[in-house]
Amino acid sequence: MTTSSAPAPIPFIDLAAQRARLGPRVDEVVLEVLQSCRFIQGPQVLELEEKLAKFAGSRFALGCSSGTDALALLLAAWGVKPGDAVFCPAFTFCATAEVVPWVGATPVFVDVKTDTFNMDPESLEAAIETARAQGLEPKVVIPVDLFGQPADYDAILPIAEKHGLKVLCDTAQGFGGTWNNRRTGSIGDATATSFFPAKPLGGYGDGGAIFTDDEELVGILKSLREHGQGVDRYQNVRIGMTARLDTIQAAVLLEKLAIFEEEIAARERIARRYHEGLGDVAQVPVVDPRATSVWAQYTIKLPAGVRDDLATALAAEGVPTAVYYRQPMHHQPAYAEFPTATPSLKGAEELCAQVISLPMHAYLDEPTQDRVIAAVRKALGK
Ligand SMILES: *Cc1c(COP(=O)(O)O)cnc(C)c1O
Repeated sequence: MTTSSAPAPIPFIDLAAQRARLGPRVDEVVLEVLQSCRFIQGPQVLELEEKLAKFAGSRFALGCSSGTDALALLLAAWGVKPGDAVFCPAFTFCATAEVVPWVGATPVFVDVKTDTFNMDPESLEAAIETARAQGLEPKVVIPVDLFGQPADYDAILPIAEKHGLKVLCDTAQGFGGTWNNRRTGSIGDATATSFFPAKPLGGYGDGGAIFTDDEELVGILKSLREHGQGVDRYQNVRIGMTARLDTIQAAVLLEKLAIFEEEIAARERIARRYHEGLGDVAQVPVVDPRATSVWAQYTIKLPAGVRDDLATALAAEGVPTAVYYRQPMHHQPAYAEFPTATPSLKGAEELCAQVISLPMHAYLDEPTQDRVIAAVRKALGK
C-alpha cells in the first residue's frame, strides 16, 4: 500500500450528516407518502404550509415547485408586464432576475454594498431614475437576502413606498434569518424562498414557498399554481403553470423544519468560530446589527488577485471552496442588454473578483473547521 499525505477531503455541505441526524424518521415519512399514493397536494403539503407561516410570522405560506417558480408566480399574480421595470441586485443567483423577462418585463440591475453584499439603497434610487429615463414603469423591487443575511429593509421599504413599488423579498438563501427581530417571510409585500437541497432549509429535490399576508393575492397564486384554475381544475380563468410542491418534499421538509432552529443556532456558532479564526487575515462577513443571518454561505473577501490562488492551495489540502458569484448579472451574456443603475456597478464587480465561500453547514465539527481555518491561514502566509 502506498502512503499518501493528502488529507481526506472535507464536504462543502454535508447533507449525509444531516440525514444521519434525522435518523429513520425521514425514511418513514417518505414511505407513508408512497403508501398513501397522495403524491400531489397530500395533507402534508397543507400541514407544512401552516407550519411555515407560523415559523415565518406571515398570515399565509404556499408551497410551490421551486424558488424560481415562487418568484415567477408572484410577478405573474401582480400582473407585471412588458414596459415594467423590476429592480434586482447585480450580485445574486441568476433566478432573481431570470423570472422578470418571463413576464415580458425588464430587469434593472442595482449595485450591492461590499460589506454586507446586499442591495445598496442609493443604487436602487439611481436605478429607478434610469428606468424612468428609459420609459419603463418602476413596479417591483426584489431585494435578496444574500448568503443568509436579510437585506437592509429599513432603507429599501421607504424607497419602495415613495415610488409605489411592490417589495418581493428573495429569501432563497435567507429563510430563518431576521431583520429587527422579524423573520424573513414577514417583510415586504411577499416573499419567495427555495427548498433546493443545499439551501439552509432544503428538501430532497426541488421545492419552494411563497409568504404573504395578502389574502386576495393568495387566491390568485393558488389558481396560477394550478393551471389558472377557477372553480375547479377544469375551469381555466387565467394562464397559469404547474407549480405545486410535491407531497414527498413536504413530508421531508416537515421533519427538517422541526430541527431547523437548532441548525440555525449551530450555523451561528460555526460562523462565530470562523470570525475568530480568520477575522485578522480576511474580510469576514459583516452582519448588520439589525439582522441575523442563517449562514447559507460563509463568504470571505480578499485583496485583489489572491482569491484563485487561495482556492488552489485549499483544494490541495482537501478543503473545498466555491465562488458565488464569478460574474455579476449585468456581465452575463443573457443579461448584458438590460439596464443598470449606473454605467458600472462597482460593488458587484469588486465582489465577483474577490470573494470565496468556505465549507459551511450545521454539522461542521470543530476539528474539521480548525482544519479549514489552518489551511486558509497557511495559504495566506499568516
Ligand atoms: C437558489 C436561489 C433561487 C432559486 O431557487 P430554486 O429553488 O433553485 O429555483 C433564487 N434566488 C436565490 C438568491 C437563490 O439563491
